[in-house]
Amino acid sequence: MHILIAGGGIGGLVLALMLQDAGIACTVLEAAQDIRPLGVGINLLPHAVRELQSLHLLPALDATGIRTRRLTYANHRGQEIWSEPRGLYAGHEAPQFSIHRGRLQTLLWTAAHDRLGPDALRPGHRLTGIAQDADRVTAYLTRGDGSTITLQGDALIGVDGIHSWLRAHLHPDQPGLRWNGISMWRGATDWAAYDGGDAMVVAGDMTVKLVLYPIGPGSTPAHRLTNWVIYARVADPQTPTPDRQNWSRPGQYDAVRPLAERLALPFIDITALIRATPEIYEYPMCDRDPLPWWTQGRVTLLGDAAHPMYPVGSNGASQAIVDARCLVTALQTRPVPAALRAYDAQRLPATAAIVQSNRTGGPERIIDLAAARAPDGFGHIHDIATPAELADIAQGYARLAGFAVSPGSPS
Ligand SMILES: Cc1cc2nc3c(=O)[nH]c(=O)nc-3n(C[C@H](O)[C@H](O)[C@H](O)COP(=O)(O)OP(=O)(O)OC[C@H]3O[C@@H](n4cnc5c(N)ncnc54)[C@H](O)[C@@H]3O)c2cc1C
Repeated sequence: MHILIAGGGIGGLVLALMLQDAGIACTVLEAAQDIRPLGVGINLLPHAVRELQSLHLLPALDATGIRTRRLTYANHRGQEIWSEPRGLYAGHEAPQFSIHRGRLQTLLWTAAHDRLGPDALRPGHRLTGIAQDADRVTAYLTRGDGSTITLQGDALIGVDGIHSWLRAHLHPDQPGLRWNGISMWRGATDWAAYDGGDAMVVAGDMTVKLVLYPIGPGSTPAHRLTNWVIYARVADPQTPTPDRQNWSRPGQYDAVRPLAERLALPFIDITALIRATPEIYEYPMCDRDPLPWWTQGRVTLLGDAAHPMYPVGSNGASQAIVDARCLVTALQTRPVPAALRAYDAQRLPATAAIVQSNRTGGPERIIDLAAARAPDGFGHIHDIATPAELADIAQGYARLAGFAVSPGSPS
């Protein structure tokens, strides 16, 4: 069996490593000519890290990222609404990692290069066409110099990201990107560690939200590479997307400064952090409607190509990894078309539910609840919200996304 993988991002590379581990040959076809460490911070939730652990990648993750110990939701003044341990600290079998997306891609690319051999990784090969019959699928590829080649395989998996060519080919009538009118500014810079150097904080009110977490070692043991995201509504929901969603579009400090100034967190000067950040990115919070199906014969979709979602709840990369495990398990036990259908039947409804939940704020609804009841702050959170309703939001989301441990209680 030989599997063609279109896209050498997080999902495509993890899929390749899992296939190799299962003794199934594959080739990764990546449009970019050079693999550069693009992006800022992402989180890998424990159910995804467990899969990376099974691929013996834990030492590389430890050398690159941060084992996340705690997640705290707070209001715009930094008052704690909800706080919970994460990863091993919450009783999971595997840690949660906060990590630089580009460095994660680089470490996966290096591992795939070492384990599959250089011929299995084809940078500069963009998927531009497909054909299939009962026995084979053919991928048409355009190379960086404009030349074209074809490759054949038993299956083709489209892991080609939020702007997936394969998704558009399979579903030409689907609407485009959905923008909810929210703009996100983000960056990462070397900064003094707060709260032990391994804590994630989501803070804000109805107007602005901040997501803050360390993603790697800093310039000294007391510093961390610290990732921040600030987001706010800048247009009505359903306004057409102003610009093609571009992960690398530069953002301006002056645009984000007034938003940062609404936040007064006692343990960090957010405005100073942002001012010190060398490169700020801005992009619209976009997703796509869940699809009715992903699979057609010997072809299917995986990761952002299948289910792009708003980046609330730290799920984009993790769900791609869970997809990959499901697909490889199916390929180990069924003929190709049946395996792809079984994967689709299991993962499409599960991820569609997360896409929908993220549209209503996902776990960050906990902040909206506190802001609606006490816009200027509160004495104690239990004066305005019961532990049960807070747990319902936080743990309900973890159950939906497949990484709940057991019912806990707020600290
Ligand atoms: C440059 C970049 C920066 C990102 N930065 C962040 C970030 O800072 N924070 C965050 O939360 N998420 C970021 N993401 C998205 C994040 O990686 C995904 O949400 C998640 O990891 C799921 O991974 P994926 O493999 O499905 O998609 P991606 O990681 O997006 O990978 C898709 C891959 O497919 C390749 N590709 C696209 N079209 C074709 C084609 N026709 N043929 C072959 N290959 C193709 C792309 O070059 C890319 O390498 C970024 C993605 C990219 C591409």
